[in-house]
Amino acid sequence: MIIFVGRSNVGKSTLIFRLTGKYVKRGKRPGVTRKPVEIGWRGKTIVDMPGFGFMSGVPKHVQEKIKTEIVRFIEDNADKIELAVLVIDGKSALEIIERWEKRGEIPIDVEFFQFLQELNIPTIVAVNKMDKVKNLNATINRLIEKFGLDGTWEDYKDVFVPISAKFGTNLDQLRKVIEEKLRESQGRRG
Ligand code: GDP
Repeated sequence: MIIFVGRSNVGKSTLIFRLTGKYVKRGKRPGVTRKPVEIGWRGKTIVDMPGFGFMSGVPKHVQEKIKTEIVRFIEDNADKIELAVLVIDGKSALEIIERWEKRGEIPIDVEFFQFLQELNIPTIVAVNKMDKVKNLNATINRLIEKFGLDGTWEDYKDVFVPISAKFGTNLDQLRKVIEEKLRESQGRRG
């Protein structure tokens, strides 16, 4: 099982469509259909988790509930999940993370990343909307620091993969890293 997680509007549906040719987009109103959507892909199950975090028109308690349900799903399926793809919006992620930090809160993307690490789930961070990012290298280096990792992008080429789901940029690289991680995951689990 491969899960895709990310805030709403980061381009998760666009990415899944690009990778699998399958359309997972829920209705226009975010947060309305909150169940994980499962699709078959190359003999595996891909699970599109509901988007989390702020969604305009969705009350805070509903956002919290969505987050709790995602956490529970991941915990319940931890032994089946071979890989997680955390999709972030490369243009706005840093700004949002810093806003949360200033309020003394743990940014939700960082929290999910660390949660996946604690469960030993191999994770790829797909840094989407790279077409809108001016200094990619600096942005990814700062993200790495915010995610609590030591080192630079050089050390995490197999974790932080910049892409543009909309324009199809660097998707081959993402596919390659996904394949690699799945192979490692298989080896790890015997
Ligand atoms: P989701 O809520 O995470 O599933 O996000 P969607 O896939 O619905 O995308 C949200 C918006 O971001 C849409 O308007 C997409 O066209 C746009 N989008 C998705 N990927 C990219 C990208 O790589 N670059 C840019 N500029 N926009 C993107």
